[in-house]
Amino acid sequence: MGVKASLIATKLKKLREGFIRQLPSQLDVLKEAYAALGKGNPTKEALEELHRCFHTLRGSSANFGLNALSAVASEGEHLTKKVRKGEVDPEIAWRPMLEEHIAQLEREVADINPSQSMDLQVMEIVAAAETYNEKECKLVYLCEDDSFQRLNLATQIGCFGFEVVSFGELEQFRNAVLSGPPDVIVMDLVYPNQPTGGADIIRKIRAELKREIPTIFISSLSDLSSRLEAIRVGSSAYFVKPVNVTSLCATLNHIIAGEAPEPYRIMIVDDDPYLSKMFATILEGAGMETRSLNNPLLALPLLFEFEPDLILMDMHMPGCNGMELAKAIRQIDAYFSIPIIFLSSETDTDVQFDARRIGGDEFLNKPIKPDHLISTVTVLAERMKIIRSYMVRDSMTGLFNHTATKERLDLAIEMALRREETVCFAMIDLDHFKDINDKYGHQAGDRVLMALARLLRQRLRNSDVVGRSGGEEFAVILPACSIQDAGSLLEQILESFAAINFPAGDDSFNSTFSCGVASLDNYDTAEKLYKAADEALYLAKREGRNRVVGVGYGDPN
Ligand code: GH3
Ligand code: MG
Ligand code: MG
Repeated sequence: MGVKASLIATKLKKLREGFIRQLPSQLDVLKEAYAALGKGNPTKEALEELHRCFHTLRGSSANFGLNALSAVASEGEHLTKKVRKGEVDPEIAWRPMLEEHIAQLEREVADINPSQSMDLQVMEIVAAAETYNEKECKLVYLCEDDSFQRLNLATQIGCFGFEVVSFGELEQFRNAVLSGPPDVIVMDLVYPNQPTGGADIIRKIRAELKREIPTIFISSLSDLSSRLEAIRVGSSAYFVKPVNVTSLCATLNHIIAGEAPEPYRIMIVDDDPYLSKMFATILEGAGMETRSLNNPLLALPLLFEFEPDLILMDMHMPGCNGMELAKAIRQIDAYFSIPIIFLSSETDTDVQFDARRIGGDEFLNKPIKPDHLISTVTVLAERMKIIRSYMVRDSMTGLFNHTATKERLDLAIEMALRREETVCFAMIDLDHFKDINDKYGHQAGDRVLMALARLLRQRLRNSDVVGRSGGEEFAVILPACSIQDAGSLLEQILESFAAINFPAGDDSFNSTFSCGVASLDNYDTAEKLYKAADEALYLAKREGRNRVVGVGYGDPN
């Protein structure tokens, strides 16, 4: 592990210990705020102060992995808010309820074990710092009133290679921005006595500078009106606390590097080549990728190859009409929910109704206004992209799931055979992973899985496929790669992975994996390739783990 990463882990651990130490006095402040409500009807100000105390405690404790404490604080926060808004039934004795919440907070605080390993994003950070190359540092201004959250977040963002300057006060922040604007702002939404303080100051700064600085909002509030506050001052993203720092930094990279998201893929089926060309031109002008087809009977191969996010389909075509084709496509499991937009000069509402019934999502009449086409396609394609990512991705690592990986393997083999190339398939299984879970906890185990996922993604090419087959097993598809290259690449990854040091409380540990790899040169079907990789993996385990074994690679038995 790099020196930097281990320093960071130590720093974060210290921060957390400091936070835990001051919790009793933070609770005292909260109790004072409760006492200040008095016996009769409490003032609005007193309720607001109590609300703020619960709110802060909820946010900061969640950030330090103290989820039980955060949950109780959240209950207190909600109840106080309801009382303040007069939404509590007069019959309900809210005072004893609040007292119970406070008593529970005290019990939770007493139960905290400061040396227990924290649900840190540290391990992910360690892996990131590990692979972080010297880049030009971009300047991030972080504004957050809670000092613990501020330090914690600033440290973590810093690990991802950004230069972070943090502020606890809005006016101080504003002065700094006016005298030297950063590349990006990370802004907390809620401040004491200023429920939308973060959004307000951004609006003010924007008017003063007469330009926008990309801003990401963070908040413990996830409701729509808070999000709208942020959107109305031009926020680029909104993260609910505790902030997932990995996603936050991915967004920062996105904003700074101006990396465009992947374009929507639109398949156009229209027997009129001029019309399909025109639609393609309009959509490509809006940044989408298109493929056109004039013969509907060739739709399926293109569907599998191109994997569109949406299909634009003419109603009337020779050989097979749009409705029939839509029906046929919907009968394929993977395309059951793909959005289909019918294009037609059909104005008969009965026909339109039929088209909808069999699964046309939208019906556009020719001639079509370009703006209308673009907006309809965008809305539906975006939805499909999200749905599909849920279907094919593993939610923890973001890698392809088991089914999707198998599908990709079939496709890769088909492609390799057609191009007379080879493809390698590797299976990876963590060593003695059960022991890691038993010794350091399931959350530590999860962090190891995420670190490996990240490492694989980082080291492999874009054209390679990385999947999580389930549990602690991963699969890798390497198109156009010889068994020697695949083997040595996997060995390099194996070495890097074994070198990552995972902090766990006062302790730290390392993890290793075993890998089996096979090439299409020796096994010519997906089943055989899968079986060969699995057997090689078994051999790697038997020979002592922490190694790569492959037929035709290294020392095959
Ligand atoms: P071997 O070296 O022989 O592979 O030993 P092992 O302990 O890794 O293998 P075994 O199959 O006995 O145990 C796998 C463990 O992986 C058991 C299970 O609790 C753990 N595991 C599976 N999925 C997850 C997960 O999503 N998160 C965590 N933390 N653990 C998981
Ligand atoms: Mg294992
Ligand atoms: Mg296993």
